Amino acid sequence: MSSAPHFQRVALIGFGLIGGSIARAAKLQGLAGEIVTTARSEKTRARVMELGIVDQVVATNADAVKDADLVILCIPVGACGPVALEIAAHLKPGAIVSDVGSVKGAIVRDMAPHLPNTVHFVPAHPVAGTEHSGPDSGFAELFINRWCILTPPEGVDADATDRLRAFWAAMGAKVEVMTPDHHDLVLAITSHLPHLIAYTIVGTADELAQVTESEVIKFSAGGFRDFTRIAASDPTMWRDVFLANKDAVLEMLGTFTEDLSKLTRAIRRGDGEALFDHFTRTRAIRRGIVEIGQDSAAADFGRQHGALRKP
Ligand code: NAP
Repeated sequence: MSSAPHFQRVALIGFGLIGGSIARAAKLQGLAGEIVTTARSEKTRARVMELGIVDQVVATNADAVKDADLVILCIPVGACGPVALEIAAHLKPGAIVSDVGSVKGAIVRDMAPHLPNTVHFVPAHPVAGTEHSGPDSGFAELFINRWCILTPPEGVDADATDRLRAFWAAMGAKVEVMTPDHHDLVLAITSHLPHLIAYTIVGTADELAQVTESEVIKFSAGGFRDFTRIAASDPTMWRDVFLANKDAVLEMLGTFTEDLSKLTRAIRRGDGEALFDHFTRTRAIRRGIVEIGQDSAAADFGRQHGALRKP
């Protein structure tokens, strides 16, 4: 546990995978004197009370942010603008207001106009997650050795950015600062496009007439299974991501479609050399990701396999 809390009162708006993980990590590390949270539904509020991780669960966002030194919106991207408007008049002067949304340009566009200039607005995106959602899905270790990208708009107090950086670092994250537009371009290719492809391929397999659904499920370990995990991600969150990062995703999708056409041509023409060269290049990228510790080198993503029975 750290020696002193980084913030006296932390307000988390939304207690799902990300909000719940921040609460658990901050509590474990002693980063907040007090953690107060709010969730939209009565059901979530009741469950959060039961979990006993936070100090207070309140019914309104306005109540949650009162006297808070750090406010983090942990809700879908599309909900951040309206919630910023709702809390604006209740924010403590000097407070840091942040979020965890997977898109940053739209967050700055939707939230900044509502926030008073007495607070410091430092948007953030922890590049860490799972396909699970809801109050039970969070865990304290989620951010360890994962990147958290801060995108402070121009003119934001450097001290506020440093304090938020230290908060994320204390939860185990590696922190980098970039502009919202650059963030959206990088994440379009590293996260948003892969999700779109997974959603597409799983939907396509579901609609195939020649292969039965039971065959798709039965033989899924051939590669399909790894797409299904991503395609199980929260529909609300991902709807908002694609609507909010439309331009960058369309740009990357254009490049992707051109590359897919090249591979299609190589298959049609029987151009084994082109295919081999391409797959060799992509294999090196995977090795690079493992080398910098962003994934496990274990075979089959570290899945447990049963042993062969002795004859
Ligand atoms: P989640 O598990 O579905 O939790 C979302 C929370 O937001 C719930 O507490 C929900 O309350 C609340 N909420 C939903 N709609 C709302 C609205 N209109 N107004 C106020 N509260 C609302 O989602 P999550 O995965 O934590 O995602 C939250 C944010 O983190 C998103 O912006 C996402 O882009 C970002 N993010 C997600 C991941 C990931 O892998 N999941 C990774 C990095 C960043 P109820 O339970 O009452 O509905």
